[in-house]
Amino acid sequence: MAAFELSREMVALCRDGVIEDINSAGAQMLGGTKPDILGRDFCQFLGKDYFEVGQHLLSMEGIEVVPIPVELCPTAGHRRQVELVIHPAREVGLGCTIVTAKDISKQARMARSAKRREDRFRILVERSMHLICQCRNEHIEYINPAGADMLGADHDCTPVGWPVWELFAGEYRDIAKEALLDILAEPSFLPMRMQRCDGTVIDVQLMASKIPSASGDLEYMIEARDISAHIRAVSALRSLNKTLETRVSERTKDLTNANAFLETLLEAIPTPVWWKDVEECFLGYNRAFRKFFGLAQDTWLGERMDAVLPLKMPAEQSQPALPFQQVRPPIEFETELRLNDGPRNAIVSEKGWAGHSNEFSGTIGVLLDITQRKTMEEDLRLLATTDSLTGINNRRHFMEIATAEAERARRYGHTLSAMMLDIDHFKKVNDTYGHAAGDDVLRTITKICSSILRKGDALGRLGGEEFAILLPETEIKGALTLAERLRENIAQAQVQSGIDTIRFTTSIGVSQLFPGEHSVEALLSRADDALYEAKNSGRNKVMPESR
Ligand code: GH3
Ligand code: MG
Ligand code: MG
Repeated sequence: MAAFELSREMVALCRDGVIEDINSAGAQMLGGTKPDILGRDFCQFLGKDYFEVGQHLLSMEGIEVVPIPVELCPTAGHRRQVELVIHPAREVGLGCTIVTAKDISKQARMARSAKRREDRFRILVERSMHLICQCRNEHIEYINPAGADMLGADHDCTPVGWPVWELFAGEYRDIAKEALLDILAEPSFLPMRMQRCDGTVIDVQLMASKIPSASGDLEYMIEARDISAHIRAVSALRSLNKTLETRVSERTKDLTNANAFLETLLEAIPTPVWWKDVEECFLGYNRAFRKFFGLAQDTWLGERMDAVLPLKMPAEQSQPALPFQQVRPPIEFETELRLNDGPRNAIVSEKGWAGHSNEFSGTIGVLLDITQRKTMEEDLRLLATTDSLTGINNRRHFMEIATAEAERARRYGHTLSAMMLDIDHFKKVNDTYGHAAGDDVLRTITKICSSILRKGDALGRLGGEEFAILLPETEIKGALTLAERLRENIAQAQVQSGIDTIRFTTSIGVSQLFPGEHSVEALLSRADDALYEAKNSGRNKVMPESR
């Protein structure tokens, strides 16, 4: 055994399975020193599963000189895998065997770990989301489930066994056929197009890598990622961008058109329009505005409106200063403007306008020229209230005034007197000098009365050549004095009719409102009675009411 001391393997001599001698490496392998091990049954050191086969071999019933892998269970330390060879040694003695054991634990560990690595790798490949093919020479040997799915493979159409280039579509098929080695040498992903089982195509990024081969065959792996969706997204994005660009440019064009349209519209409308900033300064105005105020193009731009155009706004319309962010409520008021070509009446409307983020951005104003309407209204009012020949109150309006005055006088206990005035023999004037001369006489009498009466007095032509006068705050005494003055002035007046000078007289009846009385008709009726009396007593007379 001394010669075996140098061996790293176990060398033991057994007789009928009992260890008679063993080298140090062997004793160590069995977990003890030589004295511990000698005399023990070798099979005790075999793993449970190997016990029987060990006994069989050691009993020399079967001769097996090929190494048998078994597990050794040393008395101390880890189990270890060994390759056991049992040589018959009859020359040493009956039932003798030489047992050698080579420790292969390390190799076994490596094999196990290689197996684990392979399993892990297989799981990775099988669960990969990309296509993975394993190929040998020109043919596909394996395709993972994701790859089969990507190509639409099924039972009837499976790429396993195909030439590799059959995976590709159109010109890519030719490239794969002609330049497979170049593709294998390319270290990065290549853009390729693959053909699916149904003939449709998919765009992929592809990498082919050689696998170390023991057989000398060309073994390689192809990995491909479907980028069709990516390409579709990119091209959709591109076309979207293009559409967006077109839309933006169309929108810009639209806006330019809209601006031009608005400008033209503003210039075309005949109503003055202006727009101001938050500080009331003019930002712009239209042609009608310039024309209305007689302005050159930019005269008031940047000027505050109240500095160049003081608009008389009624107090209830003027607004307290609002914070700039707050949109002003709309205002509308009627105003009178003194322009170079005369006074104008206008309705002014202004409204705040809000910008993008809804903050107050300024005001837009519109002006409605109502001068003509006002004139017409005034004309109508005069027409309705005055007598066209003399310009004084007509009967209806005089009666309205008189009614109001009588009511006021009664309520406050004020005095009120009235006169009825009638031209004497006026028919004769008409008959002698003509109707036009008669009209002149009517106008002359009106003028005389208007010049003598006070501001608060009311004069009206009740009809024909009959006038009525109302004298507030006047007692009958004062009224009689005034009537006398009127009568005298009229009697002294004259009207020229061609070469003729017309002279004329009037009779006047005077009355006073009784305390508590409010019927103006009764008051005038009493004055009319007095007038009748004046006529009867010779005309050109003033007569008080008889009480
Ligand atoms: P008396 O002194 O009694 O009042 O006599 P008179 O002629 O004035 O009497 P009467 O009231 O009968 O006559 C009124 C005349 O006044 C009749 C009409 O010709 C005339 N007259 C009425 N309205 C107008 C008018 O608008 N213009 C003119 N020129 N004459 C008028
Ligand atoms: Mg009369
Ligand atoms: Mg008369």
